[in-house]
Amino acid sequence: MDVLHSQVFFPSGFQELFSAWGRFPDAVPFSGGTCLIRSSGFSGRGLFELPVLPKNILSLDRIDELKRITRTERYLEIGAMVSLNDIIALGKSIPEALSKTLNGIAGPQVRNLATVGGNICSIGRPFGGIDIAAPLTALDARYELRTASQSRWISALRFSSFGSSALAPQELLTRIRIPLEHWNYTICRKFHARDLGDETSGVMVFITKNEKNLLTDIRIVFAGSCLLRDKNSETFLEGRKLPLDRKDAVHYREMWRDYLSGMTKPGPLLKTKLLNCIESCLLGLAD
Ligand SMILES: Cc1cc2nc3c(=O)[nH]c(=O)nc-3n(C[C@H](O)[C@H](O)[C@H](O)COP(=O)(O)OP(=O)(O)OC[C@H]3O[C@@H](n4cnc5c(N)ncnc54)[C@H](O)[C@@H]3O)c2cc1C
Repeated sequence: MDVLHSQVFFPSGFQELFSAWGRFPDAVPFSGGTCLIRSSGFSGRGLFELPVLPKNILSLDRIDELKRITRTERYLEIGAMVSLNDIIALGKSIPEALSKTLNGIAGPQVRNLATVGGNICSIGRPFGGIDIAAPLTALDARYELRTASQSRWISALRFSSFGSSALAPQELLTRIRIPLEHWNYTICRKFHARDLGDETSGVMVFITKNEKNLLTDIRIVFAGSCLLRDKNSETFLEGRKLPLDRKDAVHYREMWRDYLSGMTKPGPLLKTKLLNCIESCLLGLAD
């Protein structure tokens, strides 16, 4: 018979994990622990404060499948338990937008512990991550989510727009699939020193693709207190000649101004910074 005190489970496979989760529905997945430990509070004993963790924990550390990285011609698949630094170490195999963003998250010690799954799933939680949502949304990444009985795929855009509620009860993020495409121009900008919960911070990713001198794809994504991607404006510049005509660049910036004005978040200061940043990125493409 199950006892009622705190439990830490170390399942070595999904069957074991979901069986424990079924018996302890309040159990919380634990990957790197960097967000969980900070957001769980401390026991309040001065210098020797101990983190107070959730009552029941499901450590994902022994599930090898979650640590796998595979690559095909079209995709890179990364298991949810791969650390941020191990992804950076893949070097040129990963899109520049992802490596630049990951390098901007915390310091190397935290990045050794923090996992990609933990970063994605801590969105919307106190002290949670958010930065990675910008490149993954811009790159059209998809996430595999699993329960005891089924698995489903969800786009990064949809997942991050829902925040932590994107996961159903007892649902696990298992892997991330990133299309491998060549992006010719990549700019990543981090606004404000990251102070979690601060509405003036976030990351913007600007990527474009071209064939010879024709612009074939342009994506701008902001992840902060909200997730922004204006799919309507993306088609406006497609097929334009490079260097970009200044009038087109200005028109595109104005489309983003209209899009932002309809959004309640981020605040006016960050909206202005975003527009300035978009303008300077566009100028890099103009004559
Ligand atoms: C000092 C410091 C600085 C930081 N700076 C930044 C920054 O600049 N930018 C930024 O974006 N973030 C920043 N963070 C946040 C950091 O990125 C996250 O804490 C980290 O990525 C979470 O990963 P983890 O593996 O430690 O997750 P954990 O703490 O283990 O888990 C986080 C949450 O996700 C859930 N979870 C974990 N894995 C899964 C899974 N596979 N499926 C379902 N649910 C899961 C857990 O139950 C928990 O609710 C910072 C954190 C610290 C401590």
